[in-house]
Amino acid sequence: MLVFFVCTTFVVFFGQIVIAQSNYNLSTQGKQNVQLIVSSDFVVTMNEAQPVITNGAIAIKDGKIVAVDTQDKIMASYRAKRTLPGKDMVLMPGLVNGHSHSAMVLFRGLADDLALEDWLQNYIFPAEAKFVDENFVRVGEQLACWEMIRGGTTTFVDMYFKSDVAAKVVDECGLRAIITGSSIDFPSPGFKGWDDAFAASVDFVKRWKDKNPRITPAIAPHAPYTVSPEHLVQAIRAARHYDVPLTIHLAETQTEVRDIQQRYNATPVQHLENLGFLDPRVFAAHVVWPNSSEIALLAKRGVGVIHNPDSNLKLASGFAPIPAMLKAGIKIGLGTDGAASNNVLDMWNAIRLTALIHKGTTLDPTAVPAKTVLRMATLGGAEALGLSDKIGAIKVGLQADLIQVHLKEPHLLPLYDVISHLVYAADAQDVDTVIVNGQVLMHKREMLTVDLERIRREASSIAENIKAEFRPSN
Ligand SMILES: [Zn+2]
Repeated sequence: MLVFFVCTTFVVFFGQIVIAQSNYNLSTQGKQNVQLIVSSDFVVTMNEAQPVITNGAIAIKDGKIVAVDTQDKIMASYRAKRTLPGKDMVLMPGLVNGHSHSAMVLFRGLADDLALEDWLQNYIFPAEAKFVDENFVRVGEQLACWEMIRGGTTTFVDMYFKSDVAAKVVDECGLRAIITGSSIDFPSPGFKGWDDAFAASVDFVKRWKDKNPRITPAIAPHAPYTVSPEHLVQAIRAARHYDVPLTIHLAETQTEVRDIQQRYNATPVQHLENLGFLDPRVFAAHVVWPNSSEIALLAKRGVGVIHNPDSNLKLASGFAPIPAMLKAGIKIGLGTDGAASNNVLDMWNAIRLTALIHKGTTLDPTAVPAKTVLRMATLGGAEALGLSDKIGAIKVGLQADLIQVHLKEPHLLPLYDVISHLVYAADAQDVDTVIVNGQVLMHKREMLTVDLERIRREASSIAENIKAEFRPSN
C-alpha cells in the first residue's frame, strides 16, 4: 500500500524562513529504494518554492530527482545503493553553458588580442581549414568535456564541425549537450560551402533526433553576416520541420550591425524578424548591440539570448544590455564561447563577470544581483535552450544534473550568504562532484569517465603539428 504525503518543512536560513516542500511516496513496508542520495549543508535549488534548504538532500531514481527535502526527511524515507554526503558543501543544479565551440580548445591561446574580424578571417578560419578533421574534433571535444566537467558544467551547447564525432564523445563522457554543425556560406572544414555543410547538419539532426536522451541535435546557421537571407530561411524551416532548436551568433559587433544595415536596410534582429526567423526555438549568442525595439522584439518572439561576457570583453565586442534584456523578460543564459576567444570553458568566470560588468556599465551596484546571475547560469540557460522541463533546477521530476561545491577553502570563509559565495568567490576548482542524469562523472575531483593521460598526450601531439605548420599573417 502506498501513502502519498505532501511534506512542508520550515527551515531558518540567515534569518529568513524558507519553505522546503516535497512530494514523495512512502511504502508502509519501509523505505523506498532509490539509486542515489546526495546531501549537502546547503541545497540551492533554483526553485522559487524552496530556494535554499539547509542540511538538505536529494533522492535520485532512474536518473531523475524523486525527492528534495531536509536530510532527516530523506533518510527517513529512502534507502539508496549509494549515498554521497556533503559536509561543508553546497548542492546545486549543474551549470548550463549555452554557447561554445568546444573542440576549439585545441586553438586555445593561438591568436590573442585581435579584433573579431581579423581574428576570424586571418587566424581562426585558416587554422580550422588546415587542421580540423575527425581526430581534431574527437580530441578537442574530449579535452573540452574534461574541462567542463571539472568546472561543474553539466549541459553545454556545441556549435562546431564533425557533429557525429562530438556526439560520440559526449555520449561516452556522460555530459548533456545540444550539438550542431555550424553552417556558413563559404568553405569550412570538410565542406565547399553552404549547401553541403547545411545538408550534413540536417542529416545529423535526422540521425540523432530522439536517439539519446542526453544529446539534442540542432541547426546552426553561423550568423546573419555570413549566411544569406535565403539560407537563413532554409535553416529555420528545417528547425521547425524537424522540431529541433536553432542557434545563431547575432548582433555581436558594431561592424555586424553596420554591415547588415548596409546590405539589408535593417538592424540584425530586425533583419531576422523580416525573414520570419524569430520564434522560441531560436537562441542567439551574444546580442551585444540590439536597440530597444529589437530587445522588445526578442522578448515578444520568445527568443533566448546567451550572454558571453568573457568573449565580448576579450574581442572588445562591447557590453550586452543585460539589465534591459532582463527587464524586457528575455530568457537569458550564460556561455563561454569557444576557448580561442575566452580562453577557458569556465562558467564561474562568466558568472562573476556578469555580476560585475553590468554594475560598472550602468553605474548601479544593484544591477544584475547575485541571485539573478546564478539563475542565468542554471535555470535561465535551460529556459533559453528550451530544456527547462528537464534541467536547470533541483525539483522533483527533473533530471538529476547536479554539482557539489566545496565551501572550505580560504576564499570561501567565513560564510554569511551561500549565493554570494557561489557568484562572487567560488571558482572551478571548488567543484567537488558532478552528476548528470544520475550518473557520477566526477567525485572528490576524480574524473570517472575520461582518460586524462591519453587526452593530454593526443592534445599535445595535435598542438605540435599546429605549432610547426601554422603561420600567422603577421
Ligand atoms: Zn561563438
